[in-house]
Amino acid sequence: MVKLAEWRGKELFRKYGIALPPGQVVRSPAEAESAVASGGVPLPCVVKAQVLAGGRGKGGAVRFAATAVEARTASEAILALEFKGERVKEVLLEGKVAISRELYLSIALDRSARLPVLITSGQGGVEIESVADSAIDRQLVDPFPGLAAYERRQAARSLGLTGAAAKSLDALLTQLWTLFDREDAELVEINPLALVGDRLIALDAKVIIEDDAAFRHPEYAAIRDDRTPLEEIAREKEIAFVQLDGNIGVIANGAGLTMATLDVLKEFGGNPGVFLDLGGTDDPRKVTEAFLLMAQAHPKAVFLNIFGGVTRCDTVAKGLVEAMQQVPVAERFPLVARIRGNNEKEGVEILRAAGISSVPDLKASAQAVVAAAGGRP
Ligand code: ADP
Ligand code: MG
Repeated sequence: MVKLAEWRGKELFRKYGIALPPGQVVRSPAEAESAVASGGVPLPCVVKAQVLAGGRGKGGAVRFAATAVEARTASEAILALEFKGERVKEVLLEGKVAISRELYLSIALDRSARLPVLITSGQGGVEIESVADSAIDRQLVDPFPGLAAYERRQAARSLGLTGAAAKSLDALLTQLWTLFDREDAELVEINPLALVGDRLIALDAKVIIEDDAAFRHPEYAAIRDDRTPLEEIAREKEIAFVQLDGNIGVIANGAGLTMATLDVLKEFGGNPGVFLDLGGTDDPRKVTEAFLLMAQAHPKAVFLNIFGGVTRCDTVAKGLVEAMQQVPVAERFPLVARIRGNNEKEGVEILRAAGISSVPDLKASAQAVVAAAGGRP
């Protein structure tokens, strides 16, 4: 899944002709000041943190500035933020528009209907989460003809737009649909879409590109805004590795067992911080590589939960022991292993020789690792 930062989403909007305030992305307070001073960003302006999390408006990550110096200080404050766990590295400056109404507009995928869905609401803006369902209009869209004229008219009605504003919505919807279709998006969202006089201007942009279509879009390959540096390395090495916000590392094999292991840890009061799915591999070199990556995430304890079907427990154990020895002593962490299945006895023996015991019972092993991480015993 490629989630685009607002400014990248807006670059796409611009490419498809969707109206936006003039703006510029900057990476330092000095750059912010000169962007305004040089006239690249009109005054008054808005200063917006470029993070992937939503709720910036309510969370103090969107500010207003009336002068170049104010733009500089606002950028400085925002660049110092860690917003919902994300360091702010970029700021979007853009002209502040005089909003008469804030509308909501998106095209998403309705997975149960297996169709795109056009979602509109006359009550857009930062309170969208609490808008009553009755104030939100949803229309399933047949992707082959694409968004039809009657669907665009229905959208205008639901947004309460008439005359020139309805006309401008009609054009915008066609542009947004074309973007959704050509870019293989799974979501394009404009919230708020501002009504300014009888013009419509996109003030925010959320675009998610469908991963399965990545091969058609090499241009997105370089954009990895949504991955942590370790996830990035893992991807290059083709290791399934995901960082969460807890403190227990999980190494398992197969998506099913990996997810079940996360659930079991949660059940016993643990908090998984990173998980790694070895998949079908038992190549000791791959296991070592994966394990060292895990170590770099500094988990408080690691749970190795392997079921040997095709995978052999002894080769996994061998890779693991090798990797453990490469982790500097100061960075070592308690490890609870549970390896069952193919060549289990040999695997358990290799671990035992290295001082790691395998706990065969799932509940007992999960409780042991939760306790080792300092969670609920
Ligand atoms: P988020 O969705 O993360 O809260 P938004 O980009 O939607 O961030 O901005 C939050 C609010 O800030 C908007 O609902 C709008 O009221 C205001 N805002 C954002 N950009 C502009 C702009 N260019 N001009 C005027 N107001 C803006
Ligand atoms: Mg928004």
